[in-house]
Amino acid sequence: MIENADYVITLDRERRILKNASIVIEGSRITDVGKTANIKTRYEKRNFDKIIKADKKVVMPGFVDAHVHLSEHISRSLFPDNLSLGSWLSDWKHPYSASLTEEDQYISALLGCIDMIKTGTTCFIEQGSIGPVDPLARAVEETGIRGILGRSVMDRILSKHGLTPDDINKLYYSSADEAIRDIEKDINKWNGKVNDRIRAWVIINGKHTCTDELYVKAKELARRMGVGIHCHMASTIEEARFFEKEKGEWPITHLDRIGFLGPNVLLAHALAVKDEEVEILKRNDTKVCHCPGTALKTAKGTTVMGKFPEMIEAGVTVALGCDGTSAAGSFDMVRQMYLAAGLYKDCRMNPNLIPAEAAVEMATINGAKALLWDKEIGSIEVGKKADLILFDTNRPEWRPLNNVLINLVYSASGDSVDTVIIDGNVVMENRVVKNVDEREVLEMAQKMSWEIAKRAKFKSTLRWPLV
Ligand SMILES: [Zn+2]
Repeated sequence: MIENADYVITLDRERRILKNASIVIEGSRITDVGKTANIKTRYEKRNFDKIIKADKKVVMPGFVDAHVHLSEHISRSLFPDNLSLGSWLSDWKHPYSASLTEEDQYISALLGCIDMIKTGTTCFIEQGSIGPVDPLARAVEETGIRGILGRSVMDRILSKHGLTPDDINKLYYSSADEAIRDIEKDINKWNGKVNDRIRAWVIINGKHTCTDELYVKAKELARRMGVGIHCHMASTIEEARFFEKEKGEWPITHLDRIGFLGPNVLLAHALAVKDEEVEILKRNDTKVCHCPGTALKTAKGTTVMGKFPEMIEAGVTVALGCDGTSAAGSFDMVRQMYLAAGLYKDCRMNPNLIPAEAAVEMATINGAKALLWDKEIGSIEVGKKADLILFDTNRPEWRPLNNVLINLVYSASGDSVDTVIIDGNVVMENRVVKNVDEREVLEMAQKMSWEIAKRAKFKSTLRWPLV
């Protein structure tokens, strides 16, 4: 039982915030939520296995990160921060990915999962391992987090620059059919495993790195397997121009025309979107993941061409994602909420856009909807999975506390998450991660990152003298 939290932000249908409230958990599920006085009366004679005292704590559903790259996690701060998208991909990301071993990906994923747990993310969707998803699944299983996995799939080479024939074999499929066969294998092996903490979807890299044949076959496979599809799409203006030149239309319009869009499709970025394409997304009930951290670091233009306020207004499900640590940098969903709430207010000089409430929905219940998991997670309600986080408000950035949502979005960071419960299990308590040795993972990750830099022949990107 979580006893007597100062606030419980439920994200239930009425968006109730309960003051002085307690939560009862049995097994992996929430079995009661209510005012502490009522819960005490109802459970007077009951002995609980564990009572978490939540005095001066804010409890809310765990964050759902709707777009991450776990295999990219040990590339943190390897790449410089002034790259064009072309150079970012050909000179850095592709050589990095090609040099990854299975063990690198396992440690990278462990670090990513720890990073998420320590900042309050309890569920995520991955954009793709290099090869089978097994090393990522191992990390998810061991850390206790919840996630949707898939492998990175591309069947269209845009540039061979910097890649050896072996690299190309590792990163690209030579046919859509071959890719579909491997995706199906991953889904059969992992979907619904570990008490349904692991799900597997049809995940393809998207953009102009996939052929129309692959999009169509991916859609058909997802229908046949009863799972969702996740990919990058409309992520830059260059990509939109590429589509326009080749297909005569922008990416979202094209995907609609070939029958790819639908309620089980989640698109990451969705920045190069025309006004009329917002309506296409709405009509198809296609979900979108806004990754503000990536837009800022890689100059994608979210404040110039992004249409997230219009999408929200139109009723499109917009979630939030941290993307990869090289593309963006931080795995803190509190930071993403802050950016989502702030960027459009400023660039449009309109303080009414994306209020704190909308940002919190994007990071929780909308993420759950985008991952087709909202019947089980995304809010604190009886019958749902116990995926909960406790913020410690006995810290300067949380005081004074007058409007808990304003404190959360504009003042807090994920660093003030004190305790994390996933699937009814306490996976972090008093900021100590329970299931894995955090210090050992940090050391391994550092060592592996240095080794990858050596193998990929990356030079230091420090612009100031290191003495
Ligand atoms: Zn991405």
